[in-house]
Amino acid sequence: MSANLTPHSTNEERFKALLTATSDVVYSLSPDWSVMYELDGRGFLKDASAPTPDWKTTNVFSGDMEMVNEKIADAIATKSVFELEHRVNRADGTVGWTFSRAVPILDENGDIKEWFGLASDITERKLAEQALTVAKGFLEQQRKTYEIITSGSPDLMYMFDLDYKFTYANRALLEMWGKTWEEAIGKGLIENGYEPWHADMHEREIDSIRETGKSIRGEVAFPHATLGRRLYDYILNPVFNDNGEVIAVSGTTRDVTDRDQWQQKLKQSAEHLQAMNEEFAAINEELSASNEQIQATNNHLSRANAELILAKQAIEEGKLALRLAIEAANFGTWYIHSVTRAFITDVRLKELFGYYPDESLSIEQALAQITDDYREFVSSKLENAIYNNGDFDVSYPVIGLHDNKLRWLRAIGNLMADSSGSFSAFTGVMMDITEQKMEEMRKNDFMGMVSHELKTPLTSLTAYLQLMDMRAVQNPDELSRRAVSQSLKQAKRMTDMINGFLDFSRLESAKISIIRSDFDIAILIREAQEEANMLYGTHKFIFEPVESQIINADKGKMAQVISNLIGNAVKYSPSGSVIQVACVTTDGAVKVSIKDQGIGIEKSEIPKIFDRFYRVEGNHLISGFGIGLYVSSEIIKLHGGAIWVDSAAGKGSVFSFTIPVK
Ligand code: ADP
Repeated sequence: MSANLTPHSTNEERFKALLTATSDVVYSLSPDWSVMYELDGRGFLKDASAPTPDWKTTNVFSGDMEMVNEKIADAIATKSVFELEHRVNRADGTVGWTFSRAVPILDENGDIKEWFGLASDITERKLAEQALTVAKGFLEQQRKTYEIITSGSPDLMYMFDLDYKFTYANRALLEMWGKTWEEAIGKGLIENGYEPWHADMHEREIDSIRETGKSIRGEVAFPHATLGRRLYDYILNPVFNDNGEVIAVSGTTRDVTDRDQWQQKLKQSAEHLQAMNEEFAAINEELSASNEQIQATNNHLSRANAELILAKQAIEEGKLALRLAIEAANFGTWYIHSVTRAFITDVRLKELFGYYPDESLSIEQALAQITDDYREFVSSKLENAIYNNGDFDVSYPVIGLHDNKLRWLRAIGNLMADSSGSFSAFTGVMMDITEQKMEEMRKNDFMGMVSHELKTPLTSLTAYLQLMDMRAVQNPDELSRRAVSQSLKQAKRMTDMINGFLDFSRLESAKISIIRSDFDIAILIREAQEEANMLYGTHKFIFEPVESQIINADKGKMAQVISNLIGNAVKYSPSGSVIQVACVTTDGAVKVSIKDQGIGIEKSEIPKIFDRFYRVEGNHLISGFGIGLYVSSEIIKLHGGAIWVDSAAGKGSVFSFTIPVK
């Protein structure tokens, strides 16, 4: 701004002109700064022509008020120059920055008369400074980010300016040099410990990249601060500005010492392999000779193979036929894996247990459908079959899950070890035998009923015969006497037989019951002896002496078992042979044995003779039904005892049973 100066100007005029030329704003204030006398705002601040007491709120930015007040108080107290950069409310309503200086003008007493100040507009400079700070922060931020990215890398990363000075080095590189950022950045290659030839090489490369704008790749050995001499693979890339000029060179270097060592080793192995190869070639020749022999064998084998395929086809066809047969017979089939216990069944089997075809069925679920009185039996048979290869042919009733239908099922299973030997497969078929079972039950009921009906007349017949036998003593007619006593014997045998049927029928329908009482086994044996002597004149009986022993058992049934075993001994041994009966108490049980000198039993037959209806083949001439031993063994089992036979064909038999002494 120009001023109208004349040589006649007063000092004050000159002074004002000087101020106008040098500063933005001029102001004067009362000694305590409360009133502003005058302010020439120059468009920066609002002018104040009259004294204003509220200049502070008008001019000073509220956020800096406290700072300004403190400074004012300080200047007043020390009567020294006020000097401060602070924000102001500019004349145009925006916030700006000022650099304000005020000097106190003192009177002759040294008191402050007035403050006189100048304030310049430094808004532009302040904004530029702020922008610079932000930019610096941003750059620092970027450097840190880059540092985070590169510091994790084992690769060396760096940047050169075109004067070969490092402008960036990542942590790995600094570590390799053993230097800090401050020590290394801004320095050249030599200063960072590169050997002259090495530094020279990179400087030439940087020159070349600047000229060509192309990357350079190379390999170099360089001493590492801690690991000694290492081999590095490096790539130098140009960094372009917006005009496509190279302004810097960035580089990445990778330690390939290990790779190099591997390559060396590979080379050695390759040589080694070559030598081995030659040896192999020699061996190969020998082998090709044997190969011919193998070829011949192979031909032979392939013929055998063809035959095998045919055989397999035949088996497949057989399997198909079997499957069709299974389907036709309406069998259910299953498969159990001995280790995983996976239970795979067909739809029919599920149906037999009252399950829907799409439902899954586990072993446990299947067992749950079996009626309570059979479940335990079937379950233990199954376990024994899977894990001990026990036989598995069981019949049992089940109640269908959804249809609630009672079905009798017969399951026949077969255990086969898998070829791997790690598990066995238990497979089998299951059929619905409800019809047969019902028929059997009806027959059984009929048999029970018939036996029961027969007993009544037989009992009275026996009573009459006994009466006649008593009277016959006085009868001089020998023939009549013998006829009566023979009739009595036959009636007794018939009674035994009928009792057997009755027990059998009761066993079958699970209606048999044991009625226990305490009695002396010695007495029972004596009664058996009397009966045997009375019934069988054909054989010689030896009853060993028996010590008295009270047992708790069903006396009638015990008598029945003994007379059955004695009856068998008589039936299956020749006339005139000896039958020995013994009874001893050992280990808390009485043991009764009946020994004969008869035909004996084949070893293979022994496990079967206690089964119902089982009779050894070839004994047809001897009458019998095959139920005596079955009933006897069931009775002994009901008492918690055991029954068995020691025998060999032609050597006679010893049947024994034990009954626990309470
Ligand atoms: P059965 O009415 O046929 O005698 P059992 O159940 O009493 O029926 O006996 C079953 C089978 O056991 C007989 O058919 C016979 O083959 C054989 N057996 C029983 N006892 C003897 C014995 N003491 N000696 C030889 N074989 C016997």
